[in-house]
Amino acid sequence: MYDLVIIGGGPAGLSASVYAKRAMLNTVVIEKQPINGGQVLNTYEVDNYLGIPDIDGFNLAKKFKEHAEKLGAEFLKGEVKEIIDKNDFKEVILKNDDKIDTKAVIVATGTFYRKLNIDGEKRLRGMGVSYCATCDGSFFRNKITAVVGGGDVALEDAVFLSRMCEKVYIIHRRDKFRGTKILREKVESIKNIEILYNTVTEEIKGENEVEGLLLKNVNTGKTFDISVNGVFIAIGTIPDTGFLKGLIELDDNGYVIAEEDGITSREGIFAAGDIRLKALRQIITAASDGANCVYSAEKYIEKI
Ligand code: FAD
Ligand code: NAP
Repeated sequence: MYDLVIIGGGPAGLSASVYAKRAMLNTVVIEKQPINGGQVLNTYEVDNYLGIPDIDGFNLAKKFKEHAEKLGAEFLKGEVKEIIDKNDFKEVILKNDDKIDTKAVIVATGTFYRKLNIDGEKRLRGMGVSYCATCDGSFFRNKITAVVGGGDVALEDAVFLSRMCEKVYIIHRRDKFRGTKILREKVESIKNIEILYNTVTEEIKGENEVEGLLLKNVNTGKTFDISVNGVFIAIGTIPDTGFLKGLIELDDNGYVIAEEDGITSREGIFAAGDIRLKALRQIITAASDGANCVYSAEKYIEKI
């Protein structure tokens, strides 16, 4: 019987593992990917992580894991498919049907970006295709970019990119943005933003980097090309919480409803990082959540 099982080896899970070892909890981190690190592994330059300004995602993830290993954290490769609440303990079930008993669980399974699923998207990811303007925008200084989407994230991304790019297109599939009025008015007022309503992206073009987009006007059916150096896809995120449905309270989009302390609607199950309903999804906030969750889990374990 473990004291604590941490599901997910991204920044939230790895931070939790460091705090758990410091708290002398018998802990295991379960990660489904061959390498721990989570979404951080997807960026070639990490922004905004305090004290480490010049590092790529792979090396930051490596540092996180080494820190946890130095303290003696235990790691297991596997995908969790279910958690069963046995009241005084939890049973964590892996895809291969292995079962792990634990007093408490921290779920830190993150989110994944919704994909357009069009030609060129996967092939050119990291070579002009990005899902994070705050992270990668600075690579497109004085270049032409496009943002796909019509929600708050897309509008905020376009505003952010307009400050550094020569020109920014917003490509939205409908004739009205979903995003808030204040952001709608803002993008409409910025001179180097061109809005293409009723337009869908059919293909991302380019050999070794993004060179352009094939677009279609949904009203006329007419297709046309635009030249861009980068495309930011901002069509929403999907939290990796499918296996938690019916177990803990989620919002309509699947995010776990939990405050900063990570306490969920079910005793003994805590939520950390991007899966939590919160305003800012970044490495530093995920790491902070991991720490807070261990503090809550420790108090829970002492109580039972
Ligand atoms: P994640 O990083 O998503 O980690 C979750 C982990 O859980 C994953 O490793 C996943 O494989 C694992 N997992 C999921 N389901 C299961 C399961 N059922 N069983 C076992 N394991 C599971 N933030 C910044 O602060 N600065 C940046 O520069 C920056 N750049 C970014 C660039 C890109 C391209 C992306 C995509 C994100 C970037 N971010 C950046 C955001 C940052 O990466 C996330 O906020 C952060 O990684 C969230 O951490 P997390 O631990 O909550 O989740
Ligand atoms: P979102 O609000 O769900 O918007 C996603 C956008 O992408 C929508 O405009 C949607 O079009 C479009 N879209 C979805 N699938 C698509 C597809 N396959 N092809 C083309 N377009 C597609 O997601 P979000 O912008 O990531 O925001 C997430 C949440 O965070 C929202 O609740 C948002 O309000 C909130 N948020 C708030 C702020 C703020 O308050 N300042 C800032 C950022 C985020 P349709 O409109 O046609 O559905």
